Amino acid sequence: MLELEMLKKISYEIGPIRPPSEGRHSLLLRLTRNCPWGLCKFCYGKPYNRERFKIRGIQEIEREIENVKTLKDGIETISKKLGGMEWTALALSSYSLYGKEVSELNLGEFLNFQCIMNVFSWIRDGARTVFLQDADNLMMRTDDLVEILRFFKRTLGAPERVTSYARGRTVFKKPMSELKEIKKAGLSRLHVGLESGDELVLKYMNKGMTPQELIVGGKKAIEAGFELSLYVILGLGGKSMWRRHAENTAKVLNEINPDFVRVRRLVPLKDTPLFEEWKRGEFILLSPHEELKEIATLIKGLEFEGKVCFDHFANPFYHTGAGFRWVFKQDSEGYQFPQEKEEVLRRIEKALEIDESNFIAAGDLSTLETL
Ligand code: SF4
Repeated sequence: MLELEMLKKISYEIGPIRPPSEGRHSLLLRLTRNCPWGLCKFCYGKPYNRERFKIRGIQEIEREIENVKTLKDGIETISKKLGGMEWTALALSSYSLYGKEVSELNLGEFLNFQCIMNVFSWIRDGARTVFLQDADNLMMRTDDLVEILRFFKRTLGAPERVTSYARGRTVFKKPMSELKEIKKAGLSRLHVGLESGDELVLKYMNKGMTPQELIVGGKKAIEAGFELSLYVILGLGGKSMWRRHAENTAKVLNEINPDFVRVRRLVPLKDTPLFEEWKRGEFILLSPHEELKEIATLIKGLEFEGKVCFDHFANPFYHTGAGFRWVFKQDSEGYQFPQEKEEVLRRIEKALEIDESNFIAAGDLSTLETL
């Protein structure tokens, strides 16, 4: 089929990570590459292979938006010819496209296949959500970011939601008028790593910002009209600072009142400074029961109106006779606060009744490549 041959010639750049809440259904568009900071002890820019941060050129990005449009039109034509997306899914298998299994594709074929699959999943879900990569797109000149968002709308229509990661310090420094302009142009949700509301923990982790800056930045983002999703790292204070980490994080979250709090469990990643400290015994991870007590302290301190989500597989889980079970539900909408606060506390209480040896400890996950 002619259209299939055409799809094989079109690609665009896709970055390495996205939040789980921007699952397979979100179109991925890479405006910048990597992280402009790259020095947080627990991350160290590892998800981006520690490569240098780069803001991509507007023309290059606009060409890629046109490529997405060409792929979208091609897939829709195939769908009409074949009688629906289910048949189209079969036509878009790696075997139909390249005559081989995914594992046998060369790099060029694999990247092309990734783009076709991304656009296919996006339109099958109604082309509703877009995630802009990589770690901090607010580092772009505001005029350029606004131009790209407008070009996207002119070319592909207005999606329901456009989201991006942003560093708290960048939001803190961006003038309010510019944040409002970016919001008006179509960026609707920001994912920001708060990690901890405690000054000492942030300093120890080399986060490069203070709780006060995060409070100002978070409030600015909300005032500018963005939905705000803040990440908190469970266990980031280790054994020595867990209580202040939990209590001060709750205080900062209460002040900001974000739409989402997303809990991520600290798992030491290989080749990061924190991994080395942990191996040398200088940083001590919490045990699974201690982690649960830390979450309980955080949750008890929370007096905000938003959702608390545990949407990552590394969050606390344990063995049962019939496989693994997670303490909290894993979906990206989580628990509505304050209504479901008691439910979260009840789950923690029940989990604490399970023998600790049944839990998978954070250290046991540290060799996984998929975190
Ligand atoms: S700012 Fe974010 S992406 Fe960059 S090093 Fe820190 S945690 Fe990693």
